[in-house]
Amino acid sequence: MNFLPFTKYSLTGSPVECPICGNVKRTQISKYDRRFKILPHSKCDECALVRHEFMLSDEQLSQYYSANYRTDYQWVNSGPTSRHIQKRVSEAKLRLNNLHPHLKKNPKILDFGCGSGEFVELAQNRGAMASGFEPGKSYSKYARDQKGLDVQNCGWENYEREEKVDVVTAFHVFEHLIDPLKAFHKSVSWLNVGGIIYIEVPNMANGLKRKGFGSLHMAHTIGFGRYSLELLGAYCDMKILEVFNGYNIGIIFKKGVPRPLDKIKKDSIDEFKNLNLKQINKQFWIYSASKLFGKRSVD
Ligand SMILES: [Zn+2]
Repeated sequence: MNFLPFTKYSLTGSPVECPICGNVKRTQISKYDRRFKILPHSKCDECALVRHEFMLSDEQLSQYYSANYRTDYQWVNSGPTSRHIQKRVSEAKLRLNNLHPHLKKNPKILDFGCGSGEFVELAQNRGAMASGFEPGKSYSKYARDQKGLDVQNCGWENYEREEKVDVVTAFHVFEHLIDPLKAFHKSVSWLNVGGIIYIEVPNMANGLKRKGFGSLHMAHTIGFGRYSLELLGAYCDMKILEVFNGYNIGIIFKKGVPRPLDKIKKDSIDEFKNLNLKQINKQFWIYSASKLFGKRSVD
């Protein structure tokens, strides 16, 4: 991996239409990512979804994940570290508590992109029939071999199941995809009647407001706000059951008539209002200076 700033990544993609609303018009919001590598990002003019200006193809993305992702972001390529596991366990507890009021007794839960399986394990320990799938080899192997969990090693495109589930969860997965709409549709197809989907992603609107382009990176092909995540569900005829909005944005969706698309798009445009190239550059330096002088905000 080439870490030199002001240079391009070895993989570069091509311009694409908005992966949610299909609009081609976009506005550039940054030329760089948090490492000062050249990685232009743009915002959809219609729904404000943030995306890589030059999107990798499926093939390039799998190449990136098999060769660079874990070493780029976690400095390991041989399975999860104990620090990683500890963090995931506490996140799993919070997420399961959020989900709890919406669960029936002994629910069937499928965790999309389950990593090393901490959520699957916790849900199972609390009486759910939980399973998952994970494209990363070392993490899925750990979940299966070390934990004995029902976890398959594959991506969502190749995951097939006959038996329906009551809940699909996907934590910090959808911001890595290039076709979130297709992945969401497929998740809906795994649900029982009355089933729910719980998605959590980093809140890009908050990230940009706080850190500027420090919140942009190679692994996150798309960036959601509260409303662009609602819009994703709305395109799949899912409406909001509950929202958890903060540093991350989590939404529990259920089948039903969503709010009108135009209204959601308008709210999304408002959410990203003033987040232009100039403001995002400026915010990066303000955030960097505050870190330099020891005034750390909540991270
Ligand atoms: Zn759009």
